[in-house]
Amino acid sequence: MGINIALDGPSGAGKSTIARKVAAELGYVYVDTGAMYRSIALYVISKGVSADSREEIIPLLEGIDVRLAYADGSQRVLLCGEDVSDRIRTPEISMGASKVSAFPEVREFLFGLQKRTAEENDIIMDGRDIGTVVLPNADVKIFLTASAEERANRRFRELQEKGDPSSYEDVLRDIRQRDYNDVHRDIAPLKKAEDAVEVDSTSLTLDQTVEEILRIIRERLAERNKTGDGGKNGAEACPSGGEKKAPRHTRELTPVRPISKTRRLSHFRMFWYTVLRYIVIGLYHIYFNISFEGTENIPRDGGNIFASNHRSYQDPVFIALPTRVPLSYMAKEELFQQNPAFTLLIKCFGAFPVKRGKGDTEVIDTSIDKLEMGRNLAIFPEGTRSKDGKVGKGKTGVALIAAAAQTKVVPVGINFEGKLGFRKKVVVRFGEPIIPAQIGASSTDPRSLKVLKNTIMEKITELVHE
Ligand code: C5P
Repeated sequence: MGINIALDGPSGAGKSTIARKVAAELGYVYVDTGAMYRSIALYVISKGVSADSREEIIPLLEGIDVRLAYADGSQRVLLCGEDVSDRIRTPEISMGASKVSAFPEVREFLFGLQKRTAEENDIIMDGRDIGTVVLPNADVKIFLTASAEERANRRFRELQEKGDPSSYEDVLRDIRQRDYNDVHRDIAPLKKAEDAVEVDSTSLTLDQTVEEILRIIRERLAERNKTGDGGKNGAEACPSGGEKKAPRHTRELTPVRPISKTRRLSHFRMFWYTVLRYIVIGLYHIYFNISFEGTENIPRDGGNIFASNHRSYQDPVFIALPTRVPLSYMAKEELFQQNPAFTLLIKCFGAFPVKRGKGDTEVIDTSIDKLEMGRNLAIFPEGTRSKDGKVGKGKTGVALIAAAAQTKVVPVGINFEGKLGFRKKVVVRFGEPIIPAQIGASSTDPRSLKVLKNTIMEKITELVHE
């Protein structure tokens, strides 16, 4: 059972954008149920059937296969195997979804998929009936509103950016019509769950709304953990015929490694590490013509993986310089068998040995330990240095460690031409962190690990060639 956050509200309140940001921040999976209804509308309309025609839609349901997939950290909607994520975002499909979602058969059809996804993952699910029907026992429920005019304004601007010719009046009329449909339908109408917290975003910016929702979620989860019974005191009745959700013990708020573990590194060590880091930064700027890009993507806390292409023995230092928290990295075993002074030096800089090509499983445990201690971990998924600067094939180990530790992976591209030497131009680029849970990566599912590994390698390649 995962942690379940329900986010409901009327059309255009910004639920999907906000849910996506909140999910990224917490390392949860974002589930957009509106996209599921939209897919049904697309299917029905593409078969030449009117979205109002219940009798004609019911027999079509049998042939529909809707799935959510996670690629590149974002949710994609697959309709009968085809990625329709972009095609479902037109005004025609919006109105169609509003109509088909009023039919009980359609709702029932999607209910199972929504429930299953929530059982298997830590999720934030947005829709109209999530807190009231789909997840009545959700850990946190939020009802997000905004005035119809403000919602129409936002949607109008969005459509304009896409080059859609709809006028503001058209958009406002559509929003009002969809509100009416959602609120007045007989089954699962849009309404605030009794235990939901209402957030009115009319006069809030996107960032302020995200902040407010994160604050509510954190507060609620902390309260729930304090009471030790899921905050529900066992008083809430089971939904008829539904199973009672077992009280959960305190869990980490997010599957991303928590910041506090960084504190296990003593102030004394952090002080000397920082002093040393600034000295080395100075020296490296004198020796190399080095620049760092995308440093805003570096998390301030520790416990993150930095996955980079491998060009030289300097790579761990290049990655460590702009990161505040000490970095560990794997180095081939032979380096530890050279002279003791050298071994001591690389150990001081966070190296630990890996037996290359021998299926070293111990190194996975050591890596997870380092992350749990709050250190950052540099991994070079290619396993060996590239002489010509081309990014080679990655090994799945990086994905296995990231999924097992549920930690963020910051992709890094190191770029220089030829051989490294005095005043050589070196560019080190940091990309946006990849969150394994958002790609659906699980350490027990080899296929999902391959997807995560490929995502990481693609990002590294992009950063190298930018
Ligand atoms: O959220 P979005 O605008 O993408 O949803 C499309 C339509 O699907 C909505 O207008 C609403 O009528 C319907 N819907 C629903 N129940 C949900 C999610 C969406 O009825 N849980």
